[in-house]
Amino acid sequence: MATERTLSIIKPDATRRNLTGKVNSKFEAAGLRIVAQKRLRLTRAQAEAFYEVHRSRPFFDSLCTFMTSGPVVVQVLEGDNAVAKNREVMGATDPAKAAPGTVRKELAESIEANSVHGSDSLDNAAKEIAFFFAETEIVR
Ligand code: GDP
Ligand code: MG
Repeated sequence: MATERTLSIIKPDATRRNLTGKVNSKFEAAGLRIVAQKRLRLTRAQAEAFYEVHRSRPFFDSLCTFMTSGPVVVQVLEGDNAVAKNREVMGATDPAKAAPGTVRKELAESIEANSVHGSDSLDNAAKEIAFFFAETEIVR
């Protein structure tokens, strides 16, 4: 298995409820290592740029409002198969459909306020990591 890096975001619903440690303990227990991390408040422009691929979706406006509603923690996770492993630990987008034990099943509030973001491919992971981090800010 190849060592990969993926972008993770702990979303405003989770920071509001003081759940960042609880979320990250699940990533670490799965063998993922946090190699870069910062807490920030996304601007509207940043949220729209990050979710550009979803611009035509009916939930785009609401999603950007939610993502700017409070602080987020953006982080780079590294490990074997990190892209898929992160998605596995996160669970399905809709918490009602997420598997038991996943972050979204246990912690998410709704299909929108679903506690975490994770890159969906190695290509997108590289782009999303570069969106938030300089290479010098990633320390393994
Ligand atoms: P993800 O890769 O599992 O995060 O899901 P997507 O890339 O399909 O969607 C991006 C984000 O948009 C999700 O994590 C949710 O926060 C939000 N989202 C997705 N589908 C819906 C929906 O049907 N309604 C609303 N309100 N938000 C959604
Ligand atoms: Mg996605």
